[in-house]
Formats: sequence, structure tokens, C-alpha cells
Amino acid sequence: MIRPVITLRRIRIIVDIDTQRDYLLANGTLCARNHPSVLANIRRLMAWARLKNIRMISTARINPANHSRLDFCVEGTAGQKKVPYTIRNRHISFTADGCTDLPRDILRRYDQIIVDKRCDDPFDEPRADRILSELKVTEFVVFGALTECAVKSTVLGLLARRRNVTVITDAVGYRDKELADIALRQMEAKGANMIDTKTALGPSHLHLVGVCDCDICRGKADCHYRVRA
Ligand SMILES: [Zn+2]
Repeated sequence: MIRPVITLRRIRIIVDIDTQRDYLLANGTLCARNHPSVLANIRRLMAWARLKNIRMISTARINPANHSRLDFCVEGTAGQKKVPYTIRNRHISFTADGCTDLPRDILRRYDQIIVDKRCDDPFDEPRADRILSELKVTEFVVFGALTECAVKSTVLGLLARRRNVTVITDAVGYRDKELADIALRQMEAKGANMIDTKTALGPSHLHLVGVCDCDICRGKADCHYRVRA
């Protein structure tokens, strides 16, 4: 029998999808419309992951500089970086170079694998595909951005591989609510468990600190835009 590359006895793993500044911070190029509540929930989920010592696979979108259409998560910009509190101390990062090499026992030595990808669908990026496809765990807990793009591709890809997936429905950020609702319905129809942060972790005594003052939250941003691929 071929020994699996990644052996892990832990039952549950978090898949943290593209929690990057451009998707989740108010001044991000492609900021989610529901970013304040999503960030608050992601913060809670990160605290929970640290407390329970739950390992994480984090994907990060990266686009080349000087591309006319792909002007978000551009290599070398602040917007491409992960939101600071989504990074664990013991992490290892991989660039999107087409290789699929991985160190042995990677999730025994690190709490978090951060893997860059040049597309929304992690299964189109060789190393991300290998990590997600070969991991032997019983439950994938998913949050991140964007619901109608990378979250959808990741969840449907995992479900197609017959994995047990739980989507934290109020910790996924969207640009287009209509498309996001359709995407969430598709995930549920294909077998994903859909729960909110409160159901997953219990009620919080923390309150949102302040109110976001960005154009999106004040309703001043153009609401007719569509998600760019
Ligand atoms: Zn805002």
C-alpha cells in the first residue's frame, strides 16, 4: 500500500479561503460587501482554531503585476497579503509554481499551510489540489472569500471528492449577494453542512467594535458591479 503523503489523525481541519486584504478590508480592491461581520466571525473562528489546536489549510489568491483585468491580490502589493490575524505562528507558505512537492508530516510540524493559487478554484492549482485532495481528515470547516467564486469552487470541489464539508455561512464574504445565495444553495444541495458562527462556537459576548465607515458599509459604493473573474 502506498503511504499517504499527509498523515493526520485529527478529525477536523479548517480551510481558510483567500482571507486577504483586497477581499476583506474596506480599502481592498475587491472588498466583500459584508466584510465587517465576516471579519468579526473570522476573528472568533481563528481564536477557536488556536485554542483547540485545529490545523489549517489557507489558500491565497495571487495575480501577476501589470495584468489589465486582474487588478486585485496583485503580487507584491499590500492587498495580496492575508489579514494579519488569519496567520498562525507556526505556518509554512508555498508559492504557486506548479510544483507539488510537500515536506513529510507537514501538519505535524506546522499549524497552517498557506498555499498561493493563480485562480479561484484550488483544484486548478497543482500544489493546492494535492494538499486538499490527499488530506485524510473527516471534516473540512470552510470560511473566507469570495462566496460566489473561490468559496464555491473549493466547497464543490471537496464535495465532488466525497468529503464532509461544513460551511460557516456568516464567515464567507460576498460581492454579489444574489450570486452568493445561489452558490450557498448549490453547496447545500450537494451535501455541505451549513451553520453560522454562533451555532458552531456558541454565543459571543464580544460586540463589533465601532462601525465600519467605508463607502460600501455606508451604501455609497456602486452596487451595480459584478464580480470579476
Ligand atoms: Zn466597511
